[in-house]
Amino acid sequence: WGRKQGEKEFQFYQPSMDLIDAERRLLETDLRSALDNNEFLLYYQPQVNLITGRMVGMEALVRWQHPQRGLLPPNRFIHLAEDLDLVIPLGAWVLKQACLQAQAWQSISLVPLRMSVNLSARQFKQANLAACVAQTLQETGLNPKLLVMEVTETSLMEDIDDTVEKLRDLKAIGMEISIDDFGTGYSSLNYLRRFPLDTLKIDRSFVAQVMSDSNDAAIATAIIAMAQSLKLKVIAEGVETEDQLAFLRKHGCYAMQGFLFSPALPAAEIEALLKQDKRLNALTANS
Ligand code: C2E
Ligand code: MG
Ligand code: MG
Ligand code: MG
Repeated sequence: WGRKQGEKEFQFYQPSMDLIDAERRLLETDLRSALDNNEFLLYYQPQVNLITGRMVGMEALVRWQHPQRGLLPPNRFIHLAEDLDLVIPLGAWVLKQACLQAQAWQSISLVPLRMSVNLSARQFKQANLAACVAQTLQETGLNPKLLVMEVTETSLMEDIDDTVEKLRDLKAIGMEISIDDFGTGYSSLNYLRRFPLDTLKIDRSFVAQVMSDSNDAAIATAIIAMAQSLKLKVIAEGVETEDQLAFLRKHGCYAMQGFLFSPALPAAEIEALLKQDKRLNALTANS
């Protein structure tokens, strides 16, 4: 199966290409100094267990606080960062920041809180990836079991033998591996079986119409069933309605991420959510 990335969203406007080019050049200059200027920050989106209703993890999502243009989402600059080779230092910064934050949150979380970090294709290809990750874990003190690497199908399928080796090296450190945007790429189920994976994330393009499009419902159901038989966890992305939640719960999905529970938020707001959860739990326990 497969669905082209952004098939539904992408529109091509011929007349504005010059403008896009000009914007690209402007951003390029700024992007080169953004890391040194401390202009990146992380937002975090909770992942909620569908049975207990508890926050079991967070996904770190990078933002760029541009001095003139305001807060920019990753789709405005990640591709550019890839092209400029800035995605390696940016990715290293994201990983370290996310690990530090995860470590700091363990004491206010009710359950061990996992931290998911997105890995770009370029980062995944890095020869010394596992060594870099191991060093960051050591520096930040985060339990490797609590770190999850999100990789897309496309990066995994590029060079199967290299992928198997990379994933084994990462798993040897103790962390978990998750396939992001699952269903949008073209993975071979035969290869999937060879990879040491922990989680599949159902892309939000399927979740969006799980109630209205029987094909999307069938795909979501099939992904959950397949994950279960491969003994993988499934996380649904982009859950926005109670109906979608009920559907996913009924079919045995492990956890969800989406606006229904919370959008990605700055660290301070996530911290407030975690504290509120703990306080509620203490009140219930004492009553
Ligand atoms: P992703 O990893 O698939 O992350 C999920 C995206 O869906 C996030 O967008 C999140 O805000 C959005 N989302 C979550 N719940 C909902 C919902 O209920 N409805 C809708 N409509 N959207 C929802 P965001 O933060 O803009 O990130 C976009 C993409 O940028 C990410 O997709 C990921 O591929 C990439 N990205 C983010 N942070 C990093 C990073 O640190 N490194 C790399 N390489 N890529 C990153
Ligand atoms: Mg992701
Ligand atoms: Mg995703
Ligand atoms: Mg996505």
